[in-house]
Amino acid sequence: NMRIPSQLCFLASLVLVIHAGPISQPSDKDEATAEHYLKSFYNLTDVTDETTAVRREAIQLTEKMKEMQKFFGFKVTGKLDKETMEMMKKPRCGVPDVAAYSTFEGKPKWQTNKLTYRILNYTPDMSVAEVDTSMEKALQVWAKVTPLKFTRIYSGTADIMISFGTRYHGDAYPFDGPQGTLAHAFAPSLAIGGDAHFDDDEFFTFRSSKGFVLFLVAAHEFGHSLGLSHSNVRGALMFPTYSFTDPNHFSLPSDDIRGIQSLYGPNRDRTPIQPDPEVPTTPNACDPNLILDAVTTLRGETMFFKDSFFWRRSPSRSVTQLPIKRFWLNAPNNIDAAYEDPVQDKLFFFKGRQVWAFNGINLVPGYPKTLSSFGLPSSVRKVSAAVHVKSSGKTLLFIDKVYYSYDARAKKMDRRYPQRVESGFSEMTGAVTAAHISNGYIYLYSGTNVYEFGLYSKKYLRELKNNFFLPC
Ligand SMILES: [Zn+2]
Ligand SMILES: [Zn+2]
Repeated sequence: NMRIPSQLCFLASLVLVIHAGPISQPSDKDEATAEHYLKSFYNLTDVTDETTAVRREAIQLTEKMKEMQKFFGFKVTGKLDKETMEMMKKPRCGVPDVAAYSTFEGKPKWQTNKLTYRILNYTPDMSVAEVDTSMEKALQVWAKVTPLKFTRIYSGTADIMISFGTRYHGDAYPFDGPQGTLAHAFAPSLAIGGDAHFDDDEFFTFRSSKGFVLFLVAAHEFGHSLGLSHSNVRGALMFPTYSFTDPNHFSLPSDDIRGIQSLYGPNRDRTPIQPDPEVPTTPNACDPNLILDAVTTLRGETMFFKDSFFWRRSPSRSVTQLPIKRFWLNAPNNIDAAYEDPVQDKLFFFKGRQVWAFNGINLVPGYPKTLSSFGLPSSVRKVSAAVHVKSSGKTLLFIDKVYYSYDARAKKMDRRYPQRVESGFSEMTGAVTAAHISNGYIYLYSGTNVYEFGLYSKKYLRELKNNFFLPC
């Protein structure tokens, strides 16, 4: 039996792209990238039987592409569309997302809760104390929510042997120089099982966003050391791509807690962990009580906001979920309202008495401003929903059960407002919590429901749920 590392990880910096415009044909280079990607992470194999090789290879490629699209929650087409290509070009963790690990089926885990670790050597990028602290903190991430206890030893063989190396470093999985593979770790078993290796051609840091935060990389790797594979939940520590978080504000997302507790159970020594309100838990589109914070279009896509995340729905209806700050670094979380003014090519976010304007992902100079920049009276404490009607140039600003009409061209509030929402949109008696326009309809969200109206007729058409546009 060959020893297959359950987890080969590389994590690298994130690429930010906002895209609009038509889907272009994949180039030969893109196709080669896709093939390499599917071989690395989806167990796509070379076909050697020459007579049928070309056809079988094409079929297998399509199937593997579908597996990948399914994992990331994309539209499953088996074709190399733009969204798929972009994900493939993103630096990521090298752990296969599917199934090369039949050897490890049946949830491998440690048979004891008392585990040892040993740090064999150090990176020159950080002080010894910083490395020690990073490793200790990374193990505590898991110890806090399980009965696991970690003891450091300084000689002999530990369950988790931690080392830094470059290129060929003594196992069958050499590292690849800067970027690319960042680290890898082996699932629980004897000998190499549990061990974590870090690629010292990367630049590791204690807490800076320049370089890779060793604590974050190690916490992800130790998840593998303890028996977790990848999660396709955005924002989870075990998601395949690295993203920077200030280590001082890190808290283990609920998806990872569920994962590790499925193996080891909860930590009975402590009072139950209270979810930290500052810490993002990934909102679930299937939650029947989902109430979205805000919805807006952006350059042909539609964005649905909840807490510190948003779902991004392309015209082809594929949906991805991302942290807000991964797109708009300067945007607040938990926004109240959002709208797009396509004439100015600006996106507006509202939270409390403040308004932010973005051009693409960039904050427009001079923002955030206050609500009075829209001519709203100072008594207004927050805007609950906003939508821009391109044909009339009017922006409707909802404050619960009333709304204002702002003339974006004249830059002033229309007279005779505010009006009761019900007077403009019959049967809309509840407070409006989000609003957007799609295909000639205006959607007003209230509580867990969405009400569809004709954009021009203002005629009430039907009642839907908040997740109507989201995959569930
Ligand atoms: Zn990984
Ligand atoms: Zn290694």
